[in-house]
Amino acid sequence: MFSVEEALERVLRRVPANATERVPLALAQGRVLAETIVAGCDLPPWAGSAMDGFAVRSADVPGDLTVIETVAAGKVPSRVVGPGEATRIMTGAPVPAGADAVVMVEDTSSVGDRVTVRVSVGPGQHVRPAGSEIAAGRTVLTAGVVLGFGALGVLAALGRATVVVYVRPRVGLLSTGDEVVEPGLPLGPGQIWSSNLHALAGLCRDAGAEPVYLGNVADDPAALGAAFSRAMRCDIVVSTGGVSVGDFDHVKGVLTDMGVSIDFWRVAMKPGKPLAYGFIGERPIFGLPGNPVSCMVNFLQFVRPVIRTMLGDPKPFLPVVSAVLAEPWTRRPGRPELVRVALSFGEGGRVVASVAGVQGSAHLLGMADASGFLLVAGDTTQLSGEVPVQVFDWSWTAGAGPSYRWAGGAG
Ligand code: AMP
Ligand code: MG
Repeated sequence: MFSVEEALERVLRRVPANATERVPLALAQGRVLAETIVAGCDLPPWAGSAMDGFAVRSADVPGDLTVIETVAAGKVPSRVVGPGEATRIMTGAPVPAGADAVVMVEDTSSVGDRVTVRVSVGPGQHVRPAGSEIAAGRTVLTAGVVLGFGALGVLAALGRATVVVYVRPRVGLLSTGDEVVEPGLPLGPGQIWSSNLHALAGLCRDAGAEPVYLGNVADDPAALGAAFSRAMRCDIVVSTGGVSVGDFDHVKGVLTDMGVSIDFWRVAMKPGKPLAYGFIGERPIFGLPGNPVSCMVNFLQFVRPVIRTMLGDPKPFLPVVSAVLAEPWTRRPGRPELVRVALSFGEGGRVVASVAGVQGSAHLLGMADASGFLLVAGDTTQLSGEVPVQVFDWSWTAGAGPSYRWAGGAG
């Protein structure tokens, strides 16, 4: 029996390198950057005005000045601002030569080509110097960054229309079992609808991979062999069910007959003990247990880090945070356990963990309510207070509801 750490270490020993592709910026959100982005130009490219107002020589104000021209955003000044002169300027327009500051329109009054500036300003006031946001030659984003809207804005500001990202691994998903039927089809006697394929597809998308549905396969070696052959066009293959020691658990035998070097592991964690893991060529193959919760737990612990690593993410593991247990929790000692917990913010913004539903390996509903796993060591029998929680879903952190008030007020 392997510990979770040992199994994970073995899985990550041999992760295939993934390809890169160039995508338009509009399709780049959430992708992992595969190039270093160096600013090719200054940002802003020239000294610009941060205000609507008048470009002046700071030594001339306060005072009365002659307005020599008007420069809108997108236009360029044609005149040098001399002593006693000003240029009417809009936000985002280039500051004319000769001027070293901009006075806000609110601090002036003008009639015809005359303007009275009522305030004094220092050099540089309301001027954005060239390169003040990003200087040419500066490294602004490095490979491995997950592109969010802020990064997309930076790329666009630097004139990039496309960006090189890691290719999403295609994950072939296969469920096995004579009893398993796709939702939408009628159930025969002794049959159940397959939950695993849809849960796994969601897990794949969440990890940044592209799920490929390969459907349900009967507990029949020939059918399984054919299905695994079809799966070989994917970058990773994941099957569920058929990896236990039942009479109809054929996954290992079929893969071995196909020349796949496959290990059959018992991992010391609850839920989710059996795990088959191997390679065909460079392609990892995971045989996950059929029990719906074990299947998801195994995916999150072992398949997800492989996907994230293939995606070029230098931090491929789910984060573990410190949370406060809502109620003390007890159990009999045994295997290390991943207890499904719902998460919320408590007093002072602390993360509160509440045990979610019945904890059996077939109890799906707890998984729907849960956002993380409370990590319990094998010898632990009771827990309260601060506990480690591995977080796999962050949707509970979003939004603040109608009671939201910002302490800053109206200013
Ligand atoms: P197995 O690993 O094939 O022995 O299956 C263990 C348990 O998981 C059995 O109760 C199966 O009926 C159930 N199971 C297997 N595959 C699925 C699936 N795709 N969706 C839901 N339950 C499944
Ligand atoms: Mg089965």
